[in-house]
Amino acid sequence: MKRIIPVIAIVMAITIMWSCTSKIERMENRMKLFISAYETKAIPLYRESALASWNANITGKSEDYAKSEKASFEYAKIFTDKANFAELKTIKESKAVQDPILARQLELLYNSFLGGQVDTALISEQIKMETEISKKYSNFRVTLKGKTLSDNEVEKILKSSTMSTDLQTIWEGSKMIGPVVATDIIKLVKHRNKIAKKLGFNNYHEMSLKLSGQDPADITKIFDELDSLTRGNFAQLKGDIDSYFAQRYKIAVSDLKPWHYQNRYFQEAPEIYKVDFNKYYEKQDPVKLASTYYNSMGMNVDAILAKSDLYEKPGKNQHAFSTDIDRAGDVRTLDNIRPDSYWMNTILHELGHGVYSYYVDMSLPFTLRDAAHTFTTEAIANMFGRLATNPQWMLNMGVIDEKECKNITDVSEKALRLQMLVFSRWAQVMYRFEKSMYENPDQNLNQLWWNTVEKYQMLIKPEGRDMPDWATKIHIALYPCYYHNYLLGEMLASQLYCYITANVSKNQSFVGEKAVGDYLRKNVFMPGARYYWNDMIEKATGEKLTAKYYAKQFVK
Ligand SMILES: [Zn+2]
Repeated sequence: MKRIIPVIAIVMAITIMWSCTSKIERMENRMKLFISAYETKAIPLYRESALASWNANITGKSEDYAKSEKASFEYAKIFTDKANFAELKTIKESKAVQDPILARQLELLYNSFLGGQVDTALISEQIKMETEISKKYSNFRVTLKGKTLSDNEVEKILKSSTMSTDLQTIWEGSKMIGPVVATDIIKLVKHRNKIAKKLGFNNYHEMSLKLSGQDPADITKIFDELDSLTRGNFAQLKGDIDSYFAQRYKIAVSDLKPWHYQNRYFQEAPEIYKVDFNKYYEKQDPVKLASTYYNSMGMNVDAILAKSDLYEKPGKNQHAFSTDIDRAGDVRTLDNIRPDSYWMNTILHELGHGVYSYYVDMSLPFTLRDAAHTFTTEAIANMFGRLATNPQWMLNMGVIDEKECKNITDVSEKALRLQMLVFSRWAQVMYRFEKSMYENPDQNLNQLWWNTVEKYQMLIKPEGRDMPDWATKIHIALYPCYYHNYLLGEMLASQLYCYITANVSKNQSFVGEKAVGDYLRKNVFMPGARYYWNDMIEKATGEKLTAKYYAKQFVK
Protein backbone atom coordinates (compact mmCIF):
# COMPACT_ATOMS: atom_id res chain seq x y z
CA MET A 1 0.00 0.00 0.00
CA LYS A 2 1.23 3.41 -0.93
CA ARG A 3 1.58 5.83 1.90
CA ILE A 4 0.27 9.23 1.26
CA ILE A 5 2.56 11.93 2.50
CA PRO A 6 0.65 14.96 3.66
CA VAL A 7 1.34 18.10 1.65
CA ILE A 8 2.24 19.99 4.80
CA ALA A 9 5.15 17.60 5.48
CA ILE A 10 6.48 18.07 1.96
CA VAL A 11 6.34 21.85 2.32
CA MET A 12 8.15 21.64 5.66
CA ALA A 13 10.83 19.37 4.30
CA ILE A 14 11.46 21.65 1.36
CA THR A 15 11.60 24.68 3.64
CA ILE A 16 14.14 22.97 5.93
CA MET A 17 16.22 21.83 2.97
CA TRP A 18 16.08 25.26 1.39
CA SER A 19 17.05 27.05 4.55
CA CYS A 20 19.89 24.56 5.15
CA THR A 21 21.29 25.04 1.68
CA SER A 22 20.99 28.75 1.97
CA LYS A 23 22.69 28.70 5.39
CA ILE A 24 25.51 26.57 4.00
CA GLU A 25 25.82 28.85 1.03
CA ARG A 26 25.73 31.94 3.20
CA MET A 27 28.37 30.71 5.61
CA GLU A 28 30.62 29.36 2.88
CA ASN A 29 30.42 32.71 1.14
CA ARG A 30 31.34 34.49 4.35
CA MET A 31 34.30 32.14 4.70
CA LYS A 32 35.39 32.85 1.12
CA LEU A 33 35.21 36.58 1.76
CA PHE A 34 37.17 36.16 4.97
CA ILE A 35 39.88 34.15 3.21
CA SER A 36 40.25 36.62 0.40
CA ALA A 37 40.68 39.56 2.79
CA TYR A 38 43.04 37.49 4.94
CA GLU A 39 45.20 36.43 2.00
CA THR A 40 45.48 40.00 0.69
CA LYS A 41 46.96 40.97 4.01
CA ALA A 42 48.84 37.83 5.03
CA ILE A 43 50.62 36.75 1.84
CA PRO A 44 52.87 39.84 1.47
CA LEU A 45 53.56 40.04 5.22
CA TYR A 46 54.39 36.33 5.39
CA ARG A 47 56.88 36.73 2.55
CA GLU A 48 58.43 39.88 4.00
CA SER A 49 58.86 38.23 7.36
CA ALA A 50 60.41 35.08 5.85
CA LEU A 51 62.81 37.13 3.72
CA ALA A 52 63.83 39.40 6.59
CA SER A 53 64.56 36.39 8.78
CA TRP A 54 66.56 34.78 5.98
CA ASN A 55 68.67 37.92 5.55
CA ALA A 56 69.28 38.29 9.27
CA ASN A 57 70.43 34.68 9.56
CA ILE A 58 72.91 35.20 6.74
CA THR A 59 74.40 38.55 7.71
CA GLY A 60 74.08 38.24 11.49
CA LYS A 61 73.83 42.04 11.64
CA SER A 62 71.79 43.48 14.47
CA GLU A 63 70.00 45.94 12.15
CA ASP A 64 68.88 42.98 10.03
CA TYR A 65 67.69 41.15 13.14
CA ALA A 66 65.75 44.29 14.13
CA LYS A 67 64.08 44.34 10.69
CA SER A 68 63.29 40.66 10.97
CA GLU A 69 61.77 41.11 14.43
CA LYS A 70 59.60 43.95 13.15
CA ALA A 71 58.44 41.96 10.12
CA SER A 72 57.51 38.90 12.17
CA PHE A 73 55.69 41.13 14.64
CA GLU A 74 53.66 42.65 11.76
CA TYR A 75 52.78 39.18 10.49
CA ALA A 76 51.83 37.92 13.97
CA LYS A 77 49.67 41.02 14.49
CA ILE A 78 47.24 39.79 11.81
CA PHE A 79 46.09 37.03 14.16
CA THR A 80 45.36 39.36 17.08
CA ASP A 81 42.46 41.07 15.29
CA LYS A 82 39.38 40.71 17.50
CA ALA A 83 36.72 41.40 14.86
CA ASN A 84 38.26 38.84 12.51
CA PHE A 85 38.38 36.24 15.25
CA ALA A 86 34.71 36.93 16.08
CA GLU A 87 33.80 36.40 12.42
CA LEU A 88 35.68 33.09 12.31
CA LYS A 89 34.02 32.02 15.54
CA THR A 90 30.55 32.74 14.15
CA ILE A 91 31.32 30.82 10.97
CA LYS A 92 32.80 27.90 12.93
CA GLU A 93 29.95 27.68 15.41
CA SER A 94 27.38 27.69 12.61
CA LYS A 95 28.81 24.28 11.61
CA ALA A 96 27.61 25.16 8.12
CA VAL A 97 30.87 25.15 6.20
CA GLN A 98 30.86 21.82 4.37
CA ASP A 99 33.24 22.22 1.47
CA PRO A 100 36.31 20.29 2.68
CA ILE A 101 38.88 22.82 1.44
CA LEU A 102 37.02 25.69 3.09
CA ALA A 103 36.42 23.68 6.27
CA ARG A 104 40.09 22.80 6.61
CA GLN A 105 41.12 26.43 6.15
CA LEU A 106 38.53 27.43 8.73
CA GLU A 107 40.00 24.98 11.22
CA LEU A 108 43.60 26.12 10.70
CA LEU A 109 42.80 29.83 10.65
CA TYR A 110 40.54 29.51 13.69
CA ASN A 111 43.41 27.95 15.69
CA SER A 112 45.86 30.63 14.53
CA PHE A 113 43.49 33.44 15.46
CA LEU A 114 42.55 31.80 18.77
CA GLY A 115 46.25 31.64 19.67
CA GLY A 116 46.48 35.34 18.81
CA GLN A 117 43.67 36.40 21.16
CA VAL A 118 45.79 36.56 24.30
CA ASP A 119 45.87 39.88 26.08
CA THR A 120 48.95 41.75 24.77
CA ALA A 121 49.95 42.70 28.32
CA LEU A 122 50.14 39.01 29.26
CA ILE A 123 52.16 38.23 26.14
CA SER A 124 54.69 40.97 26.71
CA GLU A 125 55.06 39.84 30.32
CA GLN A 126 55.70 36.30 29.07
CA ILE A 127 58.32 37.52 26.59
CA LYS A 128 60.00 39.53 29.34
CA MET A 129 60.17 36.48 31.60
CA GLU A 130 61.52 34.33 28.77
CA THR A 131 64.18 36.90 27.88
CA GLU A 132 65.38 37.05 31.49
CA ILE A 133 65.63 33.26 31.70
CA SER A 134 67.32 33.12 28.33
CA LYS A 135 69.99 35.56 29.54
CA LYS A 136 70.65 33.41 32.59
CA TYR A 137 71.18 30.33 30.42
CA SER A 138 73.49 32.25 28.07
CA ASN A 139 75.62 33.63 30.87
CA PHE A 140 75.95 30.36 32.74
CA ARG A 141 79.31 28.56 32.47
CA VAL A 142 80.49 25.41 34.15
CA THR A 143 83.63 25.88 36.24
CA LEU A 144 86.11 23.08 36.62
CA LYS A 145 89.31 23.50 38.61
CA GLY A 146 89.02 27.29 38.33
CA LYS A 147 88.48 27.19 34.53
CA THR A 148 85.18 28.15 32.88
CA LEU A 149 83.90 25.80 30.20
CA SER A 150 81.40 26.12 27.33
CA ASP A 151 78.68 23.50 26.83
CA ASN A 152 80.68 22.03 23.95
CA GLU A 153 83.71 21.62 26.22
CA VAL A 154 81.56 20.00 28.90
CA GLU A 155 80.18 17.49 26.40
CA LYS A 156 83.68 16.79 25.13
CA ILE A 157 84.98 15.97 28.61
CA LEU A 158 81.94 13.81 29.40
CA LYS A 159 82.66 11.86 26.21
CA SER A 160 86.40 11.46 26.63
CA SER A 161 87.29 11.35 30.33
CA THR A 162 87.45 8.02 32.15
CA MET A 163 87.92 9.48 35.64
CA SER A 164 84.71 9.05 37.63
CA THR A 165 85.53 11.92 39.99
CA ASP A 166 86.08 14.35 37.08
CA LEU A 167 82.90 13.17 35.38
CA GLN A 168 80.90 13.63 38.58
CA THR A 169 82.31 17.12 39.18
CA ILE A 170 81.61 18.29 35.66
CA TRP A 171 78.14 16.71 35.49
CA GLU A 172 77.18 18.24 38.84
CA GLY A 173 78.71 21.53 37.69
CA SER A 174 76.58 21.52 34.56
CA LYS A 175 73.47 21.09 36.75
CA MET A 176 74.22 24.27 38.72
CA ILE A 177 72.15 26.29 36.23
CA GLY A 178 69.11 24.48 37.72
CA PRO A 179 68.78 26.46 40.96
CA VAL A 180 69.54 29.69 39.05
CA VAL A 181 66.46 29.38 36.81
CA ALA A 182 64.06 26.95 38.55
CA THR A 183 61.94 29.51 40.43
CA ASP A 184 61.70 31.70 37.31
CA ILE A 185 60.59 28.73 35.23
CA ILE A 186 57.86 27.73 37.68
CA LYS A 187 56.59 31.32 37.56
CA LEU A 188 56.68 31.24 33.77
CA VAL A 189 54.85 27.90 33.67
CA LYS A 190 52.10 29.32 35.88
CA HIS A 191 51.95 32.43 33.71
CA ARG A 192 51.60 30.31 30.57
CA ASN A 193 48.84 28.34 32.29
CA LYS A 194 47.05 31.58 33.09
CA ILE A 195 47.11 32.50 29.39
CA ALA A 196 45.83 29.05 28.43
CA LYS A 197 42.98 29.20 30.96
CA LYS A 198 41.88 32.58 29.59
CA LEU A 199 41.50 30.96 26.19
CA GLY A 200 39.45 28.11 27.65
CA PHE A 201 42.09 25.39 28.03
CA ASN A 202 42.98 23.44 31.18
CA ASN A 203 46.67 24.25 30.92
CA TYR A 204 49.36 25.46 28.55
CA HIS A 205 50.46 21.98 27.48
CA GLU A 206 46.95 21.10 26.38
CA MET A 207 46.62 24.45 24.61
CA SER A 208 49.92 24.11 22.73
CA LEU A 209 49.05 20.68 21.43
CA LYS A 210 45.45 21.46 20.56
CA LEU A 211 46.27 24.69 18.73
CA SER A 212 48.78 22.76 16.62
CA GLY A 213 46.11 20.19 15.77
CA GLN A 214 47.15 17.45 18.22
CA ASP A 215 44.90 15.86 20.80
CA PRO A 216 47.00 15.21 23.95
CA ALA A 217 45.17 11.90 24.50
CA ASP A 218 46.17 10.70 21.00
CA ILE A 219 49.79 11.70 21.51
CA THR A 220 49.95 9.99 24.90
CA LYS A 221 48.49 6.86 23.35
CA ILE A 222 51.22 6.77 20.69
CA PHE A 223 53.90 7.40 23.33
CA ASP A 224 52.46 4.57 25.44
CA GLU A 225 52.50 2.28 22.43
CA LEU A 226 56.13 3.13 21.72
CA ASP A 227 57.04 2.71 25.38
CA SER A 228 55.66 -0.80 25.52
CA LEU A 229 57.24 -1.74 22.18
CA THR A 230 60.72 -0.49 23.14
CA ARG A 231 60.92 -1.12 26.89
CA GLY A 232 62.23 -4.69 26.83
CA ASN A 233 64.70 -4.11 24.05
CA PHE A 234 65.92 -0.90 25.59
CA ALA A 235 66.44 -2.64 28.93
CA GLN A 236 68.56 -5.21 27.14
CA LEU A 237 70.59 -2.57 25.27
CA LYS A 238 70.94 -0.58 28.46
CA GLY A 239 72.47 -3.74 29.95
CA ASP A 240 75.03 -3.79 27.09
CA ILE A 241 75.73 -0.10 27.60
CA ASP A 242 76.22 -0.64 31.32
CA SER A 243 78.65 -3.52 30.86
CA TYR A 244 80.60 -1.47 28.35
CA PHE A 245 80.84 1.48 30.75
CA ALA A 246 81.62 -0.62 33.80
CA GLN A 247 84.61 -1.92 31.89
CA ARG A 248 85.56 1.50 30.55
CA TYR A 249 85.53 3.12 34.00
CA LYS A 250 86.73 -0.01 35.81
CA ILE A 251 83.82 0.03 38.27
CA ALA A 252 80.90 -2.26 39.09
CA VAL A 253 77.69 -1.90 37.05
CA SER A 254 75.89 -1.06 40.29
CA ASP A 255 78.22 1.93 40.75
CA LEU A 256 77.30 3.56 37.42
CA LYS A 257 75.85 7.05 37.85
CA PRO A 258 74.15 9.44 35.41
CA TRP A 259 77.51 11.13 34.71
CA HIS A 260 78.91 7.95 33.22
CA TYR A 261 76.79 8.06 30.06
CA GLN A 262 78.86 10.49 27.96
CA ASN A 263 76.14 13.15 27.82
CA ARG A 264 74.50 15.55 30.29
CA TYR A 265 71.08 13.97 29.71
CA PHE A 266 71.78 10.56 28.17
CA GLN A 267 69.90 11.86 25.15
CA GLU A 268 72.41 10.58 22.61
CA ALA A 269 73.80 7.11 22.10
CA PRO A 270 77.11 6.51 23.84
CA GLU A 271 79.87 5.60 21.40
CA ILE A 272 80.03 1.90 22.06
CA TYR A 273 80.17 0.86 18.40
CA LYS A 274 83.18 2.06 16.49
CA VAL A 275 82.63 3.31 12.98
CA ASP A 276 83.97 6.59 11.65
CA PHE A 277 81.68 7.82 8.89
CA ASN A 278 83.50 11.12 8.49
CA LYS A 279 86.42 9.55 6.68
CA TYR A 280 84.16 8.42 3.81
CA TYR A 281 83.07 11.99 3.11
CA GLU A 282 86.45 13.73 3.32
CA LYS A 283 86.83 13.78 -0.46
CA GLN A 284 83.12 14.07 -1.27
CA ASP A 285 80.90 17.01 -2.13
CA PRO A 286 77.76 16.55 0.02
CA VAL A 287 75.76 19.09 -2.02
CA LYS A 288 76.52 17.32 -5.27
CA LEU A 289 75.72 13.92 -3.76
CA ALA A 290 72.43 15.17 -2.35
CA SER A 291 71.31 16.87 -5.56
CA THR A 292 72.28 13.83 -7.67
CA TYR A 293 70.33 11.68 -5.24
CA TYR A 294 67.11 13.70 -5.21
CA ASN A 295 67.35 14.11 -8.99
CA SER A 296 67.63 10.35 -9.40
CA MET A 297 64.22 10.02 -7.73
CA GLY A 298 62.75 12.61 -10.07
CA MET A 299 62.81 15.38 -7.48
CA ASN A 300 64.92 18.13 -8.95
CA VAL A 301 66.38 20.41 -6.31
CA ASP A 302 68.32 22.84 -8.57
CA ALA A 303 65.85 25.68 -8.00
CA ILE A 304 66.15 25.21 -4.23
CA LEU A 305 69.96 25.07 -4.27
CA ALA A 306 70.21 28.12 -6.54
CA LYS A 307 68.52 30.26 -3.89
CA SER A 308 70.21 28.62 -0.90
CA ASP A 309 73.21 29.73 1.16
CA LEU A 310 75.29 26.65 1.64
CA TYR A 311 78.71 27.46 3.08
CA GLU A 312 80.25 29.14 6.11
CA LYS A 313 80.51 32.94 6.25
CA PRO A 314 81.43 35.36 9.00
CA GLY A 315 78.39 36.36 11.06
CA LYS A 316 76.17 33.69 9.53
CA ASN A 317 73.95 31.39 11.61
CA GLN A 318 76.09 28.31 12.33
CA HIS A 319 73.26 25.81 12.22
CA ALA A 320 71.01 24.74 9.37
CA PHE A 321 67.38 25.20 8.39
CA SER A 322 65.09 25.18 5.43
CA THR A 323 62.51 27.87 4.75
CA ASP A 324 59.60 28.39 2.40
CA ILE A 325 59.76 32.09 1.55
CA ASP A 326 56.45 32.51 -0.27
CA ARG A 327 54.67 29.13 -0.49
CA ALA A 328 54.92 29.66 -4.23
CA GLY A 329 58.20 27.97 -5.13
CA ASP A 330 60.83 30.10 -3.42
CA VAL A 331 62.30 27.47 -1.11
CA ARG A 332 65.78 27.80 0.40
CA THR A 333 68.11 26.14 2.84
CA LEU A 334 70.83 27.66 5.01
CA ASP A 335 73.77 25.39 5.82
CA ASN A 336 77.46 25.49 6.69
CA ILE A 337 78.54 22.49 4.71
CA ARG A 338 81.81 20.67 5.25
CA PRO A 339 82.79 17.33 3.79
CA ASP A 340 81.78 15.10 6.72
CA SER A 341 78.95 12.76 7.65
CA TYR A 342 77.21 15.31 9.87
CA TRP A 343 76.77 17.72 6.97
CA MET A 344 75.91 14.92 4.57
CA ASN A 345 73.06 14.04 6.91
CA THR A 346 72.13 17.70 7.31
CA ILE A 347 71.93 18.57 3.61
CA LEU A 348 69.84 15.45 2.90
CA HIS A 349 67.65 16.45 5.85
CA GLU A 350 67.21 20.09 4.82
CA LEU A 351 66.50 19.19 1.20
CA GLY A 352 63.88 16.76 2.51
CA HIS A 353 62.11 19.77 4.04
CA GLY A 354 62.84 21.57 0.78
CA VAL A 355 61.17 19.10 -1.57
CA TYR A 356 58.16 18.86 0.75
CA SER A 357 57.57 22.61 0.38
CA TYR A 358 58.63 22.80 -3.26
CA TYR A 359 56.31 20.06 -4.53
CA VAL A 360 53.16 21.12 -2.68
CA ASP A 361 50.13 21.47 -4.97
CA MET A 362 50.27 25.12 -6.06
CA SER A 363 46.56 25.14 -6.87
CA LEU A 364 45.77 24.85 -3.14
CA PRO A 365 44.96 28.06 -1.28
CA PHE A 366 47.80 29.80 0.59
CA THR A 367 46.83 28.45 4.03
CA LEU A 368 47.00 24.85 2.81
CA ARG A 369 50.29 25.21 0.92
CA ASP A 370 52.12 24.05 4.02
CA ALA A 371 53.06 20.72 5.62
CA ALA A 372 50.27 18.70 7.26
CA HIS A 373 52.08 19.32 10.56
CA THR A 374 55.61 20.40 11.54
CA PHE A 375 56.42 16.80 12.50
CA THR A 376 55.37 15.42 9.09
CA THR A 377 57.98 17.54 7.30
CA GLU A 378 60.47 16.55 10.02
CA ALA A 379 59.68 12.92 9.17
CA ILE A 380 60.62 13.35 5.51
CA ALA A 381 63.78 15.22 6.49
CA ASN A 382 64.74 12.49 8.98
CA MET A 383 64.00 9.66 6.59
CA PHE A 384 66.47 11.08 4.06
CA GLY A 385 68.97 12.38 6.63
CA ARG A 386 69.39 8.88 8.10
CA LEU A 387 70.75 7.68 4.74
CA ALA A 388 74.04 9.54 5.23
CA THR A 389 75.23 6.65 7.42
CA ASN A 390 73.39 3.91 5.56
CA PRO A 391 75.99 1.64 3.91
CA GLN A 392 73.60 0.61 1.11
CA TRP A 393 73.00 4.25 0.21
CA MET A 394 76.71 5.01 0.42
CA LEU A 395 77.44 2.09 -1.88
CA ASN A 396 74.76 3.04 -4.42
CA MET A 397 75.98 6.62 -4.43
CA GLY A 398 79.58 5.54 -5.00
CA VAL A 399 80.83 6.73 -1.62
CA ILE A 400 82.11 3.28 -0.60
CA ASP A 401 82.73 -0.01 -2.40
CA GLU A 402 81.05 -3.35 -1.96
CA LYS A 403 83.69 -4.68 0.41
CA GLU A 404 83.51 -1.68 2.75
CA CYS A 405 79.72 -1.83 2.62
CA LYS A 406 79.82 -5.41 3.89
CA ASN A 407 82.37 -4.47 6.54
CA ILE A 408 80.30 -1.74 8.12
CA THR A 409 76.70 -2.88 7.60
CA ASP A 410 76.34 -4.69 10.89
CA VAL A 411 77.97 -2.04 13.04
CA SER A 412 76.09 0.82 11.29
CA GLU A 413 72.78 -0.87 11.94
CA LYS A 414 73.65 -1.38 15.58
CA ALA A 415 74.78 2.21 15.97
CA LEU A 416 71.58 3.60 14.41
CA ARG A 417 69.44 1.28 16.48
CA LEU A 418 71.15 2.39 19.67
CA GLN A 419 70.85 6.03 18.69
CA MET A 420 67.13 5.74 17.96
CA LEU A 421 66.29 3.76 21.09
CA VAL A 422 68.26 6.04 23.41
CA PHE A 423 66.64 9.09 21.85
CA SER A 424 63.15 7.62 22.07
CA ARG A 425 63.49 6.95 25.81
CA TRP A 426 64.78 10.48 26.39
CA ALA A 427 61.91 12.01 24.40
CA GLN A 428 59.50 10.03 26.60
CA VAL A 429 60.99 11.78 29.64
CA MET A 430 60.55 15.20 28.07
CA TYR A 431 56.96 14.58 27.00
CA ARG A 432 55.77 13.02 30.27
CA PHE A 433 57.54 15.55 32.45
CA GLU A 434 56.24 18.61 30.60
CA LYS A 435 52.70 17.27 30.50
CA SER A 436 52.66 16.57 34.24
CA MET A 437 54.43 19.84 35.11
CA TYR A 438 51.79 21.94 33.34
CA GLU A 439 49.01 19.89 34.89
CA ASN A 440 50.38 20.64 38.34
CA PRO A 441 53.34 23.03 38.64
CA ASP A 442 53.09 22.92 42.45
CA GLN A 443 54.07 19.26 42.78
CA ASN A 444 57.62 18.21 43.71
CA LEU A 445 59.18 18.69 40.28
CA ASN A 446 62.64 17.47 41.35
CA GLN A 447 61.08 14.19 42.35
CA LEU A 448 58.88 14.05 39.24
CA TRP A 449 61.95 14.50 37.02
CA TRP A 450 63.92 11.66 38.57
CA ASN A 451 60.91 9.35 38.73
CA THR A 452 60.46 9.89 34.99
CA VAL A 453 64.17 9.49 34.21
CA GLU A 454 64.33 6.26 36.23
CA LYS A 455 61.22 4.88 34.60
CA TYR A 456 62.02 5.64 30.95
CA GLN A 457 65.80 5.99 30.72
CA MET A 458 66.50 3.47 33.47
CA LEU A 459 69.14 5.68 35.05
CA ILE A 460 69.49 5.64 38.81
CA LYS A 461 69.15 8.90 40.72
CA PRO A 462 72.32 9.69 42.71
CA GLU A 463 71.53 8.96 46.33
CA GLY A 464 69.91 11.85 48.21
CA ARG A 465 69.91 14.13 45.17
CA ASP A 466 67.20 16.81 45.45
CA MET A 467 68.03 19.41 42.82
CA PRO A 468 65.98 21.03 40.03
CA ASP A 469 67.76 19.01 37.34
CA TRP A 470 64.71 19.38 35.08
CA ALA A 471 65.40 23.12 34.91
CA THR A 472 68.80 22.56 33.29
CA LYS A 473 67.20 21.55 29.98
CA ILE A 474 66.66 24.79 28.09
CA HIS A 475 63.73 23.40 26.04
CA ILE A 476 61.61 23.07 29.19
CA ALA A 477 61.84 26.84 29.72
CA LEU A 478 62.15 28.32 26.26
CA TYR A 479 60.85 25.84 23.64
CA PRO A 480 57.90 24.44 25.57
CA CYS A 481 55.66 21.53 24.64
CA TYR A 482 57.34 20.85 21.32
CA TYR A 483 59.92 18.12 22.00
CA HIS A 484 57.48 15.25 21.40
CA ASN A 485 57.29 16.28 17.74
CA TYR A 486 60.89 15.13 17.23
CA LEU A 487 59.91 11.62 18.22
CA LEU A 488 56.66 11.68 16.22
CA GLY A 489 58.81 12.72 13.24
CA GLU A 490 61.09 9.71 13.75
CA MET A 491 58.10 7.36 14.05
CA LEU A 492 56.55 8.65 10.85
CA ALA A 493 59.91 8.45 9.07
CA SER A 494 59.96 4.74 9.93
CA GLN A 495 56.33 4.23 8.93
CA LEU A 496 56.84 5.86 5.53
CA TYR A 497 60.15 4.08 4.98
CA CYS A 498 58.63 0.67 5.76
CA TYR A 499 55.61 1.38 3.59
CA ILE A 500 57.75 2.45 0.64
CA THR A 501 60.19 -0.46 0.85
CA ALA A 502 57.25 -2.89 1.11
CA ASN A 503 54.99 -1.38 -1.55
CA VAL A 504 56.80 1.06 -3.82
CA SER A 505 60.41 0.00 -4.24
CA LYS A 506 62.46 -2.82 -2.78
CA ASN A 507 65.61 -0.73 -3.22
CA GLN A 508 66.39 0.30 0.35
CA SER A 509 68.37 3.40 -0.60
CA PHE A 510 65.78 4.67 -3.15
CA VAL A 511 68.70 5.65 -5.43
CA GLY A 512 67.35 6.04 -8.97
CA GLU A 513 63.81 5.14 -7.90
CA LYS A 514 61.49 7.54 -9.70
CA ALA A 515 58.55 5.61 -8.25
CA VAL A 516 59.56 6.74 -4.75
CA GLY A 517 59.65 10.38 -5.84
CA ASP A 518 56.24 9.98 -7.49
CA TYR A 519 54.79 8.30 -4.42
CA LEU A 520 56.02 10.99 -2.03
CA ARG A 521 54.95 13.83 -4.27
CA LYS A 522 51.49 12.46 -4.81
CA ASN A 523 50.72 11.20 -1.29
CA VAL A 524 52.66 13.44 1.05
CA PHE A 525 53.92 16.66 -0.57
CA MET A 526 51.11 17.63 -2.95
CA PRO A 527 48.29 17.37 -0.37
CA GLY A 528 50.09 19.96 1.78
CA ALA A 529 47.90 20.76 4.76
CA ARG A 530 44.61 19.89 3.10
CA TYR A 531 44.06 16.89 5.39
CA TYR A 532 44.41 16.55 9.13
CA TRP A 533 47.88 15.00 9.63
CA ASN A 534 46.62 11.60 10.73
CA ASP A 535 44.26 11.42 7.75
CA MET A 536 47.13 12.26 5.40
CA ILE A 537 49.20 9.47 6.99
CA GLU A 538 46.33 7.02 6.70
CA LYS A 539 45.74 7.89 3.05
CA ALA A 540 49.47 7.56 2.32
CA THR A 541 50.22 4.35 4.23
CA GLY A 542 46.86 2.71 4.93
CA GLU A 543 47.29 3.22 8.68
CA LYS A 544 47.15 6.07 11.14
CA LEU A 545 50.42 7.06 12.80
CA THR A 546 51.71 4.09 14.74
CA ALA A 547 54.87 3.23 16.67
CA LYS A 548 54.89 -0.26 15.10
CA TYR A 549 57.32 0.54 12.30
CA TYR A 550 59.75 2.42 14.51
CA ALA A 551 59.83 -0.72 16.61
CA LYS A 552 60.09 -2.92 13.51
CA GLN A 553 63.12 -0.96 12.33
CA PHE A 554 64.92 -0.53 15.62
CA VAL A 555 63.78 -3.23 18.04
CA LYS A 556 65.48 -6.53 17.47
ZN1 LIG B 1 64.36 19.51 10.34
